[in-house]
Amino acid sequence: LIQLYVPLNFMGTLYREIKQAVTDIEMMFGLLERDPEIKDAPDATPLAIRAGTIRFEDVHFHYNASRPILKGISFEVPAGRTVAIVGPSGAGKSTLSRLLFRFYDIAQGRITIDGQDIRTATQASLRQAIGMVPQDTVLFNDTIRYNIRYGRWDASDDEIEEAARNAQIDHFIRALPQGYEAEVGERGLKLSGGEKQRVAIARTILKSPPILILDEATSALDSHTEKEIQDALERVSRGRTTLVIAHRLSTVVTADEIIVLDAGTIAERGTHGELLARGGLYASLWNRQREADEARARLAQIAEDE
Ligand code: ADP
Ligand code: MG
Repeated sequence: LIQLYVPLNFMGTLYREIKQAVTDIEMMFGLLERDPEIKDAPDATPLAIRAGTIRFEDVHFHYNASRPILKGISFEVPAGRTVAIVGPSGAGKSTLSRLLFRFYDIAQGRITIDGQDIRTATQASLRQAIGMVPQDTVLFNDTIRYNIRYGRWDASDDEIEEAARNAQIDHFIRALPQGYEAEVGERGLKLSGGEKQRVAIARTILKSPPILILDEATSALDSHTEKEIQDALERVSRGRTTLVIAHRLSTVVTADEIIVLDAGTIAERGTHGELLARGGLYASLWNRQREADEARARLAQIAEDE
């Protein structure tokens, strides 16, 4: 019996690890959004993460050779800092995050983490080092507790609840009749987009990766929810190297650097203040967003008054 138990237990752990690696990928981008041909190099080694500095060096990339998507992109996210990527739809913003995960190989240039070309690292170690809060979180048809624990299988209940508190979702969960044991997903409780996103944030806090990618939701959230999510995102990104595909003005304003991507090239870069002063693409994107926000606020005010 004892002899049987050990290998089975080992198989259990292994199975979970494999399942996690596989479903992480599916969940984040969908199965189609990666190249199945990407394999570990024969001499691949685990990524040795120190501070977590990310560098894109003259990165060229295309999905189809006939259509270049990124045309020589260079930037650095220093360890523990936040860089925001903004720009029109189709500019190549989400592609940058797929490349950092090495879902595709680039045509020219280098992507490094702490000086190591990501093509020399094992994919498992690379993906272990990066946490992602996607635009649209998929939840499993299971309990809320399970959905948070997914970030790290060996987490204790206390750790799960602490992560939920930091993600500003603990109050909401406790108010449910079944609390953390409430079933969610297709056959269970339907959560709003903001609630699902906070579950994803709790999951990421639990995983505690040195590198973080945030793909912020484009959809307009009400300002109360937006504030809560913003606080949660700020907590999870504190002290981590963060690449944020930014739609919210508040994230952009505080980023260490903003990169304005347009048709696969860097059109502008700098801090919020520098870019506003420049009066270019960023300034016009910013002004348009601010006008939309003000219009929304006025509408909300009118609705409240009536
Ligand atoms: P953004 O996030 O800035 O809106 P993306 O990085 O998603 O833009 O896409 C950049 C360009 O690449 C778009 O024109 C898009 O249509 C194209 N693209 C994205 N994914 C694929 C794919 N799997 N195959 C071919 N083209 C793609
Ligand atoms: Mg995108």
